[in-house]
Formats: sequence, structure tokens, C-alpha cells
Amino acid sequence: MSDTPDDHPRPKSHGRLSIQASARPRDLMAGMPQVRGAYQARVITLFPEAFPGTLGLSLTGKALDMGLWRLDAIALRPFGEGRHRNVDDTPAGGGAGMVLRADVVDRALDAAMEGAPDDRARWPVVYLSPRGQPFDQAMARRFAACEGITLLCGRFEGVDQRVLDARAIEEVSLGDFVLTGGEIAAQALLDAIVRLIPGVLGNAASTEEESFSDGLLEHPQFTRPQLWEGREIPSVLTGGNHAEVTKWRRAEAEKLTEARRADLWAAHQARMAAKPPGRGR
Ligand code: SAH
Repeated sequence: MSDTPDDHPRPKSHGRLSIQASARPRDLMAGMPQVRGAYQARVITLFPEAFPGTLGLSLTGKALDMGLWRLDAIALRPFGEGRHRNVDDTPAGGGAGMVLRADVVDRALDAAMEGAPDDRARWPVVYLSPRGQPFDQAMARRFAACEGITLLCGRFEGVDQRVLDARAIEEVSLGDFVLTGGEIAAQALLDAIVRLIPGVLGNAASTEEESFSDGLLEHPQFTRPQLWEGREIPSVLTGGNHAEVTKWRRAEAEKLTEARRADLWAAHQARMAAKPPGRGR
């Protein structure tokens, strides 16, 4: 926690409150093995009870239990102002809704960054926001290669711009739609990151062949039964010729990408044109 003086004296119990605030996730992890250097996710939120949420299930949940990554939800409320721990106020200039205060968010951020490197290239600080850079697989890979990440979940109309600017906070969007809060966005982002951490997925090859990994959407998938409602699995997939399967999947991936995503298709074609022949999948 920084000792920089600010306009409002911090409550004496500030540090202790931050520990209380994250008591749930810490409790959750009590007695769990901690892998040294494991990826650390810290989430600042008004609703810490939303975590781990779906991240506690299935492969991401198992990996959390195994200590392959760690998750701390830091409640914003205890860093609020006054007896009522107010975290928001009306927007300057008027208009509907409320805005999360810069000073309150900053105190929570200080607590959330305890022991984390200040270098944003090693440990990004991200505000989930519809105005942000669109999240994609390349960004997930960049984040997964870091030591950890701190996420700030907005609520209401968002966060005072000054703390975003002053603390070099990246804005990242899940897409062109508006959620009521950043918590679901944070979980989606963390899910995409965590599954890239070595050991989290049973089959590491599956992250190499899936959608976006080579700029194409994934080919269609099929499984038993062989015949369902008069529909057969494409015979090439059950014929046992691996080279033919690979060729078919590639062609399907290209067809699908061209039909559905003009943007990805154009980028893919440009990449292929720049590549010497015979270097594709
Ligand atoms: N007034 C804001 C929207 C606020 S929505 C605007 O028009 O830009 C409340 C919070 O939900 C935001 O602070 C953000 O944390 C989260 N949120 C909403 N939509 C999101 C999206 N598409 N991606 C990531 N976070 C989002």
C-alpha cells in the first residue's frame, strides 16, 4: 500500500479492511497448494461474492484448486468514503446515474497492487469498459504471458476518468454491447486467459487448433451417433485418413471464416500472401 498523502485521511483500519474484503477468496484457497510463480488475478469489485463464479467450475476451477492460478476478489466498498463507505457520486456536468470516485478506486487499487510489480508490461491493470480496446485471443495470450493481472469492474455509469489516466489503466471491452457491471466481463476475460496457462487444459494441443489460433474460425465438430435424424457425420471424418481429415478441416475453417467474418478472412488472406508457400497448416 502506498503512503502518498491524499485529500481525505484514510481510515485507520484501511489495511485490515482490505484483508477482510478478500476474506472469501482467501478462505476459498486456504489449504490449497500454491504453485510458486502461479498466475495471479486480482479483481476489484463492488460484488466480490460474484467470484470465483463460473471460474470455480470445471477446468478453470480445478486449476484454481491445484494452485495453477490464484484469484483474489477485492471488495471496493471498504475503501469508500465516510461512515457509509460511499464509493460513487453524481456525474460532473449532470446526467443520469452515478460514477465511481477516483479516490476510492485508487485506494482499492493500491491495496490490490500490494506485492505486484509496477511494470504494466509484467502486470497489466485493466478496467473493463465498453469504450475499451476490443478483447481478442491475441490479447488473452499477451495477458496470459504476464505474472498476473488486476481487473477493475465498473458499475453504474463507470469510473472517474482521472484515476484511469493517472494509474495507466488499460480499458478493455468484451464487445459492442453494454453490461450493467464489469464482473461478467472480468470472468470471461479471466476464463480466456487461464485456459492458456500451461497445465490448465488437459490437452494443450486444443489451444493450438481452436478458433482464432491461426486467424480462422474452427471447423465444425461432430461426435456419435454416426447417424442422427437422417444426418450423417461427413464420411471423411470417419474414414481414418488423417491427411484427408486435416485437409477437410482446413477447407471448412476457411469456408466458414469467409462466410461469417469478412474482417478475419481479409487478414488471413493478407497473411497467407505474405508467407512463403508451403508454410501453412
Ligand atoms: N456508461 C458507460 C457504461 C457503463 S456500464 C458507457 O456508456 O460506456 C457499467 C459497467 O459495466 C462499466 O463500467 C464496465 O465495467 C462494465 N461493462 C459494460 N459493458 C461492458 C463491455 N462491453 N465490456 C466490458 N465491460 C463492460
